[in-house]
Amino acid sequence: MLNEEDRQGLDTPETIVRADRDLVALGIAVAAILLFVGLGGSVLPSALSSVFSDGEAPDPSHASALLLNIALVIFGWRRYRELKAEIAERRRAEEHARRLAEIDPLTGCLNRRSMAKASTAIRADATTRGLGLAYCMIDLDNFKKINDLHGHALGDAVLVELASRIQARLPDAAKLARLGGDEFGFITSFDPANRAGIDDVVARLYEQVSKPFEHDGTLIDASISIGVASDHDENGFNLDMADIGALMQRADIAMYHAKKQGKNRYFWFEPAMENELRFRNELEIGIRNGLRTGQFVPYYEQQVDLDSGRLVGFEMLARWNSPKMGMVSPEIFIPIAEEIGVISDLSEHLLRQALVEAIDWADDLTLAVNISPVQLRDPWFAQKLLKLLVEHNFPPHRLEIEITESCLHENIGLVRSLIASLRNQGVQVSIDDFGTGYSSLEQLRTLPFDRIKIDRSFIGELTNPESGSQIVDAIVSLGRGLDLPITAEGIEDRAILDALKQMGKLKGQGYLYGRPETGEQVRQRLAASGQLSKRAQSIREDASSAKHAHSLAPVEPTEIDLTRSASLGS
Ligand code: C2E
Ligand code: MG
Ligand code: MG
Repeated sequence: MLNEEDRQGLDTPETIVRADRDLVALGIAVAAILLFVGLGGSVLPSALSSVFSDGEAPDPSHASALLLNIALVIFGWRRYRELKAEIAERRRAEEHARRLAEIDPLTGCLNRRSMAKASTAIRADATTRGLGLAYCMIDLDNFKKINDLHGHALGDAVLVELASRIQARLPDAAKLARLGGDEFGFITSFDPANRAGIDDVVARLYEQVSKPFEHDGTLIDASISIGVASDHDENGFNLDMADIGALMQRADIAMYHAKKQGKNRYFWFEPAMENELRFRNELEIGIRNGLRTGQFVPYYEQQVDLDSGRLVGFEMLARWNSPKMGMVSPEIFIPIAEEIGVISDLSEHLLRQALVEAIDWADDLTLAVNISPVQLRDPWFAQKLLKLLVEHNFPPHRLEIEITESCLHENIGLVRSLIASLRNQGVQVSIDDFGTGYSSLEQLRTLPFDRIKIDRSFIGELTNPESGSQIVDAIVSLGRGLDLPITAEGIEDRAILDALKQMGKLKGQGYLYGRPETGEQVRQRLAASGQLSKRAQSIREDASSAKHAHSLAPVEPTEIDLTRSASLGS
């Protein structure tokens, strides 16, 4: 973008032309000089002889004309010099403005607009030489995190360094542009019979970027994701890719695919990726709509004391009741909700429903909820959660927050203070899917968790004669050593349950005890076992006795009933 200073220095061609026209001043100066030569030739000798040898003085009108002529020469010459300097300055400003309009000021690469022009030129050249075109989209992985952790100055330095490393490894004729924040793209012509040539270029880029970035003594490990699209495939020229815009868009889709596949990798565009993206866009729109129209509902999975079989609480599991796709698993929509920034709203929406339902359960039943790593980055998360509890009059000690092990990797300092403030208020915190992340023993020892939940992938292996129970055994001993109670997830059958019971006093959950249920199913289950809160139980009894009385009483239609039914019927 141009700043005010740049804009002031920017001259339109019109002003330059006006300055050019003022070259008339030069003409006047030249004419004045010629006049001076003519006039001076006759007036000066007589003036000199009158001064030095008593000659006749020149005609006074000629002398005045000569003086005027000298003044004109000086004026005209100075004006000419000034104008020349002015025009040179204006041309410099114009060149500067042109560069600003075409070049990314931070990295010196082309920008999106000038890249379009450069691409058209490369295309024309490639067509005449019978070459193909490849467009590579490059995106820095986790750039937001680099900015957040180290500040924007360092973020900028990384971008500058990245641009120069990429540029250093590109073929001479390739054009590199910065297309957005941390997104770069380059276009190059290549021999369509040798796609491997492009693979080599990309491999060289990875080699360059894999070296750490150093700025003011800070070392940053960065990685990039790349998508490549070409206007030639195995069948030759692909008409669908004739347009540079289409080529660029497909390179972008391939890059997006690389991100989805775990970042730090590259993919050539394939048509299937486009469908994937379309489906993903539909999901995004569906999630936003669903959130507005209340399609997300909490389901509950029983948690049981394994020894006694006694119900101790429920884990709330999100479900999306989509009108288009039916019941959708959280494993599909939670990552998207995280990415599009609606996870906090979604989570609050679910938690509000769950608190309303769980307040009617017996006092000794807990409610466990899963919290996304994205929510943990919010420094106000604990306060918001406690406010919700107060609003719903829900005792904090009945709430259990589940944090997945992978969160610890993200921002241990924030997690530590979050756990501390939640526990101060009486909320319990457990570490979920334990065994699948990278928590160190040190973290386990120093973070004040209340419970470990062993991931169901290990529990499922318990009855496998090959892998056996070693991992679960080890985690159970770890829990015992750290004085952390354990919950086993994914108990699917009796054999697993029996194996777990041998290991000590554990809690557990899994399909053996039933699939996750709706709030109403849970209410019926608790009503049957007498585990609703006293208030909820008596409301239920009142409602059912009123229904019972109503069904015994003779139905006598009142006048109002009659009018109403008449109007409804019409
Ligand atoms: P999780 O917290 O580990 O939840 C347990 C998952 O295991 C649930 O899957 C549950 O249905 C499934 N499960 C329970 N018992 C068994 C069993 O015996 N066998 C098998 N094979 N699976 C069992 P679900 O509901 O699909 O949830 C998947 C994950 O999605 C959850 O894993 C949790 O990480 C996440 N999730 C669910 N609800 C929410 C939510 O409201 N917010 C956030 N941030 N994440 C959620
Ligand atoms: Mg969980
Ligand atoms: Mg889990």
